[in-house]
Amino acid sequence: MKIVVCVSHVPDTATKVKIGDNGKTIDPKDVTYVVNPYDEFAIEEALKTRDAVGGEVVVISLGTDANKESIRKALAMGADSGILLKSDSYRDSLSVAKALAAEIKNQEAQLVFFGKQSVDYDAGIVGQLTAELLGFNSVSVVVDFKLEGEKITAEREIEGGREVIETSIPCVITAQKGLNEPRYASLKGIMAAKKKTIEDKEAAAAENYTEILTMSKPPAKSPGKILGEDASAVPELVKLLREEAKVI
Ligand SMILES: Cc1cc2nc3c(=O)[nH]c(=O)nc-3n(C[C@H](O)[C@H](O)[C@H](O)COP(=O)(O)OP(=O)(O)OC[C@H]3O[C@@H](n4cnc5c(N)ncnc54)[C@H](O)[C@@H]3O)c2cc1C
Repeated sequence: MKIVVCVSHVPDTATKVKIGDNGKTIDPKDVTYVVNPYDEFAIEEALKTRDAVGGEVVVISLGTDANKESIRKALAMGADSGILLKSDSYRDSLSVAKALAAEIKNQEAQLVFFGKQSVDYDAGIVGQLTAELLGFNSVSVVVDFKLEGEKITAEREIEGGREVIETSIPCVITAQKGLNEPRYASLKGIMAAKKKTIEDKEAAAAENYTEILTMSKPPAKSPGKILGEDASAVPELVKLLREEAKVI
């Protein structure tokens, strides 16, 4: 079975992100980029599924040449080949999904794994949009996945519990933390990845329906107040929580 994993190349969450001079984009200078953390669960599940049922895992990332670093990491973990959908101008989530869907259709993939969310722009919709564009079934925020023949049983995290869903391929799954324990790339895997193919393709053109007007950082937090060091400070604390912070 042809399995696709879609991988987003995102700023490391430990990196201090600055907003660019145009006030609309992230300034990429001095930013360390990594595989989107949720996509690591997606990669792992794709590899486990391939190892159980046979077939191949193709990694697709849309962006610039820099995305190849994340594709290479997935190849080092064990994916078979990669595709970079080249695009260096702004695309909104639907435009990204359209380009991914066009390539997934071209690949004739039956099963597609996404992360549940990209930790840079955080929309959490590209997987579901792609499923709709392809006419595939989809299950989001998956924490347990089983494929038996064409039947899929997936568990989703819901508020205060879990939900079990049954569906069938062709299907898009979006991965949540806890789905598995992503493997580390071994030295052998890293060496093998150097010989694996990453194909460059032009991303399918697609219109943007949204426009970013501005991007801003949250206001700086005001410094805390120390009211006292023992129980005598409690009445004042309660008063301020009630009258100033208005949280009780
Ligand atoms: C070339 C380019 C330039 C951009 N420029 C800007 C900009 O200037 N300002 C701005 O605010 N935003 C920009 N974006 C971000 C864009 O608007 C989308 O928000 C973003 O690509 C997808 O993020 P999301 O939060 O919608 O993804 P989510 O819906 O949160 O992602 C869910 C999952 O979809 C998959 N996925 C998401 N993105 C990709 C990808 N690129 N390739 C493969 N799989 C993916 C991953 O599996 C991910 O876990 C740009 C994107 C691209 C590709």
